Parts: sequence; C-alpha cells; structure tokens
Amino acid sequence: MFLEVALPLPLRQTFYYRCPPFEFRRVQTGQRVLVPFRNRKLTGYVIHQYDELPLGSPNEGSIREIFCVLDGESLISPEIFRLAGWVSDYYFASLGDVLKCCLPTGVNLRSKNRFSITEAGLAALSGRDSSASLLPAERAVLAVFSEKPNFDLRQVVSLAGAAIPENTLRKLLSNGWLRSEQVLDRKVVSAKEQLVISLENGAATKTNLTESQASVIRFLEKSKWPVPVSTLHRELLVSYSTLRSMARKRMVHLYKNRVQRDPFEDVNHFAEHVVRELTLEQKQVFGELDQSVRASHFVPVLLHGVTGSGKTEIYLSIIECMLREQKDSLVLMPEIGLTPRVAQEFRARLGHDVAILHSGLSDGERFDEWWRIKRGDAKVVIGTRSAVFAPLQNLKLIVVDEEHDPSYKQQESPRYHARDTALMRGKLTNSLVILGSATPAIETFYNARKGKYKYLSLPSRVNSRPLPAVRLVDMRMDFTESRKRSVFSRDLSQAIQERLSRGEQILILLNRRGFSGFVTCRSCGQNIRCRNCSISLSYHKKRNVLLCHYCGYAQKTPKLCPHCGSEYLHYLREGTEKAEALLARMFPAARISRLDRDSAGKKNAHAQILSQFQKQQVDILLGTQMISKGHDFPNVTLVGILSADHSLAFPDFHCAERTFQLLSQMSGRAGRGELAGEVLIQTFYPEHYCLKFVTLHDFTGFYEKEIRFRQFMHYPPFTALANILVRDKNLESAVRTINLFNDLLREYASSDIKILGPTLSPLAKIKLEHRFQMLIKSKSRRQLKEVLKKSLLAGTQRGLELRKVHIDIDPVTLM
Ligand code: ADP
Ligand code: ZN
Ligand code: ZN
Repeated sequence: MFLEVALPLPLRQTFYYRCPPFEFRRVQTGQRVLVPFRNRKLTGYVIHQYDELPLGSPNEGSIREIFCVLDGESLISPEIFRLAGWVSDYYFASLGDVLKCCLPTGVNLRSKNRFSITEAGLAALSGRDSSASLLPAERAVLAVFSEKPNFDLRQVVSLAGAAIPENTLRKLLSNGWLRSEQVLDRKVVSAKEQLVISLENGAATKTNLTESQASVIRFLEKSKWPVPVSTLHRELLVSYSTLRSMARKRMVHLYKNRVQRDPFEDVNHFAEHVVRELTLEQKQVFGELDQSVRASHFVPVLLHGVTGSGKTEIYLSIIECMLREQKDSLVLMPEIGLTPRVAQEFRARLGHDVAILHSGLSDGERFDEWWRIKRGDAKVVIGTRSAVFAPLQNLKLIVVDEEHDPSYKQQESPRYHARDTALMRGKLTNSLVILGSATPAIETFYNARKGKYKYLSLPSRVNSRPLPAVRLVDMRMDFTESRKRSVFSRDLSQAIQERLSRGEQILILLNRRGFSGFVTCRSCGQNIRCRNCSISLSYHKKRNVLLCHYCGYAQKTPKLCPHCGSEYLHYLREGTEKAEALLARMFPAARISRLDRDSAGKKNAHAQILSQFQKQQVDILLGTQMISKGHDFPNVTLVGILSADHSLAFPDFHCAERTFQLLSQMSGRAGRGELAGEVLIQTFYPEHYCLKFVTLHDFTGFYEKEIRFRQFMHYPPFTALANILVRDKNLESAVRTINLFNDLLREYASSDIKILGPTLSPLAKIKLEHRFQMLIKSKSRRQLKEVLKKSLLAGTQRGLELRKVHIDIDPVTLM
C-alpha cells in the first residue's frame, strides 16, 4: 500500500512512500505524515492513496516507508485542498509549499543539521595534532564550535558574522573535525496549558486553617471558574508548597488546563463600539450586496469608494447579516492596514466571533486562533495574505480590502496573489467576493469595465466632507528662488508652521527609496557595499552602524575607506532619520514622532506610536508607507509628501500605478474630521500625468491614460506575464542555468510569445546569490503555461537545476 506525498520543497514533484496497512486504512487526503527524505525527516501531505504503484512511479525496491501519520484527522479540508491544488498549478509552485501555507506556522515538524566538533577537531585546533594544517577560515569556524559544542548552522553564521563557505564546511567534515547529525526541530507549537486550582467539595467547612489557607479558600469561593495558580501567587502571595499541601489535604484541586492565547489581550482599547446609521449612498450599495449574497453563487464585486467614503462600515454591516444566518466571513487586509485599532474595531462591533491572523502574532497566538476557526468557534476572520487559507467551514463572504495593494503577492514560493486566490476560493465556495479600494488595480478596474466584476461605487465621503485640496510644489522653482536643495520646500515649511500654530496635526510621507542613507568616499568615489549583496549599506546615525536592508548584515561605521584607505568618508544619513532631525531643528517646539521599519521593530511599538498620534500627544508624524494606510486621524489637516519623483522613475511598468495609489492613499489621510485638509506634493516633474490626476482626484482619468499605455506596450491586462529569476551563489552556474532555460523557452515558444532578456536583475546580487532574469509576455495565458511546462519538463532531462529557477506568475514587481 502506497501513498503519494507532497513535500514542502522547491520541487514541482511528488514522492511515493510505503504505508503499513493499519495506518493506510485511516489515512485521509491532506493528512500530514512524517517521512524520510534523503537523510532528513520531513513533514509531508498525503495527495493520493494507491493499493498498487501507478504507472510511471519509481520501482518498488527504492520506495521507503513513512515514519508515522501525524494527525488523527486531516487538518486540510477538501475545499482548501482543491484551492491549494489550483494555487500550485497556476503559480507553478510546489504543492507541499502551498499546503504548508494553509497551516499555522509551527505545526510542521522538520529535521535540521546539527554540527559538533570532534576530538580530532579539538586536537587540530589546539595544535596537539601537528599533522593538521588549518586555514584561518577553518580555524575560526572550529573555534566557534569549541566554545559551544552543539550548534546548527544558522547560529554559527550569526556568531561568525558571515556565511561559512560550503567548501570550508565540506573540508572540516571530510577531515573528521566536525560531525553532523540530523535532529528533529523541536520548535513546534502546541496547545498552551497552565496550572489552575479549584475548590474541593466541603473545603469551606474545614476548620483549623492557617491564615494563608483561609485566604485561598475565600478567594476561590468568590470565583466561578478555576483560577490560574499564577494569579493566586500574585494576588495573595501564597507559595507553591502551601497550595500543594492544601491539595494533599483535599481542600483544593490542582490540575492543568488548556488556555486560549488571545491576541487582543494587550491591545489598547482605543476603539469604542458605535452603531452608525448608513448614509443613503451606503444603503444603496449595501442593498445590492445583500441581494448578491442571497443569490448564493459566486459573485465578484469591485467596491470603488473614495478614501473616507465608509467602506469599512459596509463590510461590518454585511458581516453582521452573515453572522445572523450562521455563515462565515473572511476579511483580508494588507499587512500595514491591519492595525491593532482596526482589529479592535471589528472585535468591539462583532464580539468574540472574530479571529485575527497576521504576522505580528506569536506562533502560539496564531496556533490558537487557527484552531478556534477550525473548530468553528470563530465565524469571522480578519487577516493578512495567508489568511486566505483560513479553515472556515461555511464560507459565504470574502472581503479583500485595498485590493490593489502589492503586499497581497507573496514574494517567496509559493508566489500566490491573495486577491486572485480569494476570487478562486469564492468560486469554489459560491461566495460573494468584495474587492474594495479607492484606487483599484488597473487589472481589476479593467475586469469591472468588461463586466467580469459587478461595479459598485461610493463617489463621495461620508457627510459630504470634501476631499482635500492637493497641490504640487515645483521643486525647480524652490531651488531657483532659495538657491539651495532643501528637503522641505519653503511652501511646505510654511504650511507646517500654520498647522502647528492652530494646534492641528501633520503627516509627512517619506518614500524610502532614494532617501536611504549611505557612505561614499570623497577620494575614490566608491560606496560602501554589503558583502553579501550588491547594495549600498544604509547609514543609521543613532545606532552608529551600517546596515543592509536586504540581508540584515550590520557593521560598525568604519573610519577609513575600505577601498582606498582614505579618511574622507562622507555619511549621508538614512532618510527618515535625517528628515526627523531637520524637522526638529526647524520646529523646536513641535512634538515629532517617526514611524518606519526601524522604529516599529519592537512588538507593539507600531501601535504605540499610532495611538499617541491618535490621542494628539504628537504634532507631526513622519514615516514611510506604513503611515499611508487605514488610519483615521480626524485632526490631521496637512499631509506633506517629500518627493514623488523616485517612485515615478522606477524601472518597472507598474511605477505610475503604484505612485498614483500611494499618493491618493496618502491624500486620503487629510481632512477626515470636521476640518478641511490639504496635501502638498514636492516634485521636480509636476507635468507627469500621474501627478496631474492625483491633484484632480481623478482615478478614471488616470486609468484611461494608463490603460492605453499598457495596451500599446503589451503589458497586463492585455498580456499574461511571467518573470523568471535564476538565483545562484556561483556566477558561472547561474549564467549556465539562465542560458539553458532561455534556449528551452525559445525552442517551445509560439510566435505569440515574447521573451525579454535574459539580463542581470536590477538587484544583481542579494544574500550572496547572483540574480538573472527574463520576462515572458503572452497574449494567451494557456500558451504561457504550456511553454513553461514544456520547458521545465525538457529541462529536467537536460540537467536544468530546477530549484534555482524561480517562476513568478503575474509579478507585482520586476526587481
Ligand atoms: P474608507 O474605508 O472608505 O476609507 P471608513 O470606513 O474608514 O472609510 O470611514 C470614514 C469615516 O467615516 C470613519 O471615521 C467612519 O467612522 C465614518 N463613517 C462611516 N460610515 C458612517 C456613517 N454611516 N455615518 C457616520 N459616519 C460614518
Ligand atoms: Zn575610497
Ligand atoms: Zn546584504
């Protein structure tokens, strides 16, 4: 009896295992099994069961037996299994990778290599073995191991400060100085238990109690539920031994109980539950949606509402309808849109039926939330990208808020787009799917125009609040008049001053790209670059380090140029940091706060900064795109955008679309309360059509222009696109792989298919890997798929290293 198993490996291939009969009978599709793979142990997923091996599978002798079945029943429902199959097929992703995404992190068992130093290794290191000759790099690695005997590779790398070259490792192993073994990774999350205590019958009537025993009994009498022992410790200062002796005397009962880790626990309660009557416009849209839900088949809708038009209110109302009918709802939000405040608002309005899934949760919290959904205890899920696979059983409504957001696309395998996956899930479950946005993706709007999606719109803000006035500040003029290149133009500085004097709040957006600081040498002109990536290191003044934003590599700021030894190094500060310092100098009395990846690093720091701004304890909030989404600050009357130019000049056909979206979202933060808002955008190219349409709040105008460009250039939605990326630490092998794949593609491509490249990627080297890419455009999606399938198949016969070829279908970035 045999199982076909998908493994979470970057291979588009499944594997066969033998299964003992007593296990075979209870195995279900999607169930997890622990299997041997090469010299590792991996968690796999059962795809198929066979009494006899099917044709084309490897011969019986080579087939190994599974170790065990991991779950009592399959954690993956037939519906999710089908969805995963579609994702795997559409995005050319490994089915095992996709199925792994469907489960909360931490449930997957996996083995890893552990290394330890041998006696011979110690002898070589200490010089006792005079026949051993060690290179400096080998000595360094052995030295690390001699201090800490048992390590996995990642820990060694972080201690040694850089990756260990493979040949160094190989030599250490083959000389018997290091030993490696496979151990199961024990970092597996499970249900959390805590010690609780409850009163035994008749305890209250006992006499001869000590003071502390009596206090425990009084405390327990008052509480309806078992009390965690930690609470008793804290409240009554009783010791463990007191409690244990009380348990021996049968006064109390001590036992372990499962606890639910609640991600809402330490969220500030700054959202109150308010019921609002829907406006006329909202009512109309709601009526249409309500009708579609009742139709009970797949209906995709684009809800196009300007910023502040009250889309969230509509989502909440329709979810309430679903709850009344015992149907489940799923709400997807972009990573930075799902703030604690938004989560709190949903919880306050919909109660404990809401579960939340996002990357800020601890593995334990995610595990518990996932099980709450699986058991059917949560009927509403709000979450980020991967929540599209949430195990809701009776799904009838899916909302994708800010559907245009590129963070819905996963940039690692499986490279799925959560919006498109949500549409597919809607199709499989006959659900209503609402795509909401003020600035829909070009493809989405195109589909709505063609009638593929129903189109509903909210053209004005709630209570007829006006949209803010958007003004472009021509930085060329500013330069000619002031004779200096300033970060803050005179117009913007003046506007900030005005708001400060009126006690109003200000948001400043800094588009990180192009503002990141770096170090150049004035003698030789070179930048200091990351040793793993071909990228300039960013200078962070406060921590006095140079940091790589791609691989996390950090080094102290050097005194001398590493290229020429000159001492004339010029430090350009990180954008946000520099702008913050400038602001502080210009407005010494203002309270200024900064939100970017660095300042929001710590858990809850992000929420805290936003909450302070919300409570008006801060006048100016400065930040990257993190400040552009989902926040509702009624006292903000000025939004300043320091530069629109870098993102417009990006080498990617999406750049106008992205800039339009970002600037419109950002503008949408101004004037959401009683006071009218204003937006100032600094630019050197005020003539650009993208900026013109932003000032007019004219999405349709922008769309008309952009769609003509897309048609003319044969870009989506008129073509299907695949980006092929080859990554390899070895440069020659990278070149060989991309060239071979290029040959294959050109061999199988029909005349309708255009292949651009291969070229070096704009990010030519990341984390020690060289990168080459190719772009494939096809009028027909079917043909695109076919040529890729054929090339991959033929490639395996010609020695193509599949795991080095990364296929990105419908890429959202071409970097
Ligand atoms: P969007 O998501 O479309 O940008 P929101 O849902 O955040 O808009 O709503 C914008 C503001 O209008 C919020 O402060 C919200 O509380 C308020 N609002 C929404 N609907 C109503 C309503 N029917 N009556 C009063 N205020 C509303
Ligand atoms: Zn130099
Ligand atoms: Zn790097």
